[in-house]
Amino acid sequence: LLCCHASLTEQRLQGIFEDPKEPIEERVKDLLGKMNLEEKVGQMTQIERKNASAEVLKSYFIGSVLSGGGSTPKVNATVKEWVDMVNGMQQASLSTRLGIPMIYGIDAVHGHNNVMNATIFPHNVGLGVTRDPQLLKEIGAATALEVRATGIPYAFAPCIAVCRDPRWGRCYESYSEDHRIVQQLTEIINGLQGEAKTDMKGMPYVNGKTKVAGSSKHYVGDGGTVKGINENNTIVDDSALYGMHMAAYVNSVAKGIATIMASYSSINGVKMHAHKQLLTDYLKGKLGFKGFIISDWEGIDRITSPAHSNYSYSIQASINAGIDMVMVPYNYTEFYDGLIDLVKKNAIPMSRIDDAVSRILRVKFAMGLFENPLGDYSLINEVGSQRHRELARQAVRKSLVLLKNGKPGNPPILPLPKNAGKIVVAGSHANDLGYQCGGWTIEWQGVSGNNWTAGTTILDGIKATVDKRTKVVYKKKPSDTYSSKEKMDYGIVVVGEVPYAETNGDSQNLTIPAPGPAVIENVCKETKCVVIIVSGRPVVIEPYVDKIDALVAAWLPGSEGQGVADVLFGDYGFTGKLARTWFKRVDQLPMNYGDPKYDPLFPFGFGLETKPIPSTKKPEL
Ligand code: BGC
Repeated sequence: LLCCHASLTEQRLQGIFEDPKEPIEERVKDLLGKMNLEEKVGQMTQIERKNASAEVLKSYFIGSVLSGGGSTPKVNATVKEWVDMVNGMQQASLSTRLGIPMIYGIDAVHGHNNVMNATIFPHNVGLGVTRDPQLLKEIGAATALEVRATGIPYAFAPCIAVCRDPRWGRCYESYSEDHRIVQQLTEIINGLQGEAKTDMKGMPYVNGKTKVAGSSKHYVGDGGTVKGINENNTIVDDSALYGMHMAAYVNSVAKGIATIMASYSSINGVKMHAHKQLLTDYLKGKLGFKGFIISDWEGIDRITSPAHSNYSYSIQASINAGIDMVMVPYNYTEFYDGLIDLVKKNAIPMSRIDDAVSRILRVKFAMGLFENPLGDYSLINEVGSQRHRELARQAVRKSLVLLKNGKPGNPPILPLPKNAGKIVVAGSHANDLGYQCGGWTIEWQGVSGNNWTAGTTILDGIKATVDKRTKVVYKKKPSDTYSSKEKMDYGIVVVGEVPYAETNGDSQNLTIPAPGPAVIENVCKETKCVVIIVSGRPVVIEPYVDKIDALVAAWLPGSEGQGVADVLFGDYGFTGKLARTWFKRVDQLPMNYGDPKYDPLFPFGFGLETKPIPSTKKPEL
């Protein structure tokens, strides 16, 4: 028996790369040595799931597949259908000559926001308010579990942008205008990937089957573009670049981030996807990052203007600059053939290809993908679990910022009494889960209404929290103005931005869309009113603020609207402090904490507090 065991193993194993007991670097070297150019270039190619037929996966040796924003097997796919889909693709990859598993990636940027009934956490703009690294770690762990439950081992998160201008359509993906808060909250990586015991010194660290590979994005300076225009140029000196925008990348690398995504934007006129000095010399060289750099969606195409006008140049410049894996959702044949051609012509050195592929394989080995390539059906119930919803609800409570509580000379009105009498609830955002969740929810641009995912709206939360004697009247239609014939004790107005993502969210006026302002005016002139703003960033509120009794910034709280009511009615106190400056007028922008001309409506760090009120619930009999 003993005699034959070794030889059987030898037969089964194609090389030491298949042996998990071998050091990762040995496995990388061994496997790389067995690969031909086509297989290497295939590893560097990430395609959209709609193109990922078994035939394509096998004939191009595809290294990675992604779901671009909102790209699901079908809109209401069950968790099991997700696993079936990903596993089916993986079987195709495993059946290739060397059986290298592909890695499936997805934007899980506030929970597993692609899947119906997943737990949707507040967007980063709200999480920044909490300044609570432990909470972020728990959110990362919950997100990792839900993502893994769908058979997916890779999330394009966290976004560690330092948003310096709220006109940017992605400001809600940023924790703060202050890099120190962003740095602190990279703790989410320890939840997503698992917590490395020591500084990873650039090595990717992903601790097994319930964790996912993360991607700190978008490298670098995405939040600093001129006028907050998405994908624009970021003009910085060394202290802003290294001291501010780069800061959280240092933390990410120390924690073992597996991948880093390049930004569409430019630094001082140089496109990041072609920025050799920052990608190769600085990130891989100076910071010692040993995972892989992934391009953004058609990011290399946008090196040229117009985009995709010289694709061969795009491939050459980006790969030579240090991009390792390229997100080529659609034109993968052009990329694959083009890259092979450039290598054959010596326009891209083989050493660069070997470096890129080594990095990709290193991540796959480090996370145990060769040993556990398939999604595990036993995790299915993790998606939208009660435990995760509780965590999200807690995050909502801590992310709220109380900006005003009582008109001058009047007592505070929050927390509201649970026996408030009659409450009118009004505004487009009071009963809309889609609006609460914002962009990157089910669809890339987000959704509206309550049929997309489970959870509680703010209205649901209010109704569930007040006591039986309190009457809650919900004015649904914008034309439903509050009637003075009915005597109301309080009005709660919930208005804000409608969902958006990326460039579609760029705004030079930052006004609350109509009829939001009119609803504020109508309700607040009739009764004592609380205005709750649901938005991805500070918005123009100065013209109305004197008319409002209490003002709450709820950001994009996600699926657990109950968390808002928990704080409104005093089961918990308001504790949140602004992680962004609340401007008066857009002509002040950009304006950040520490600027010489700082004249905000509410400064960075501002936030009133309330104390929780002792439970008024009668003890159970
Ligand atoms: C975004 C990235 C995202 C990618 C994949 C791009 O448009 O900029 O943040 O990860 O799409 O969906």
